[in-house]
Amino acid sequence: MSKQILAGNWKMNLDYAEAKKLVQDLLKLKDKFNKDAEVVICPSPVYIAVFAEILAKEKWIKLGAQNCYFADNGAYTGEVSPVQLKSLEVDYCIVGHSERRDFFNEDYALLAKKTKALLNHGITPIFCCGEQLQVRESNVYREFVMKQIEEALFSLSAEEISKVVIAYEPVWAIGTGKTATAEQAQEIHALIRARVTAKFGEKVGKEISIIYGGSCKPENAKELFAQNDINGGLIGGASLVAKDFCEISNSF
Ligand code: PEP
Repeated sequence: MSKQILAGNWKMNLDYAEAKKLVQDLLKLKDKFNKDAEVVICPSPVYIAVFAEILAKEKWIKLGAQNCYFADNGAYTGEVSPVQLKSLEVDYCIVGHSERRDFFNEDYALLAKKTKALLNHGITPIFCCGEQLQVRESNVYREFVMKQIEEALFSLSAEEISKVVIAYEPVWAIGTGKTATAEQAQEIHALIRARVTAKFGEKVGKEISIIYGGSCKPENAKELFAQNDINGGLIGGASLVAKDFCEISNSF
């Protein structure tokens, strides 16, 4: 069975005091969070070391990074490696968010390398895919998303891909307040699962977690998470408000 996952992508938001306060607010809500869902926060990388210490005794919140490079170490100014993340007990890392694809030109080949490097170091990649508005409107969005998955993930082994979390994030729904309907999201999630099953087998298809992202909030999470192939959410804006993030965790 797929694991239920709720990951908060804080992006480049919050100064240090605000970010620490958000962690404290989340910790105060511990008893109210859904115990059956894996809760992950992905703060700015400059806060990860301190948060790793704060969360060392609070194993119920996992730490995630928003990005990494694929090399273990070396002359890559400004980058962060999976080895460094692992040394801070980071469990998850987002790969190929549409903002990285659009603003930093990340392509399939790079994303495939990052995904592989994370898996080599025992960090779970949260691999993002999703179409822009013009692709959705031109009606080739299904093929478009399948290509994103195939190009970046299909050279992995069955064992490797079963450890990847796939996040379907229609770009037109990210930060726009415009959510995909539950039916629109389910259609793509089911296609992704079917494609993964066809390539890697029943067991992998059943076990892989496919989460939804794009203006997911307390008001729409229940309907989205009730869909057969939606195993949770990658949450941007709403993850910056502790009580909203907590409420979303109880929407499974
Ligand atoms: C995201 O950027 O991953 C995201 C889903 O953002 P939002 O929830 O704000 O649309």
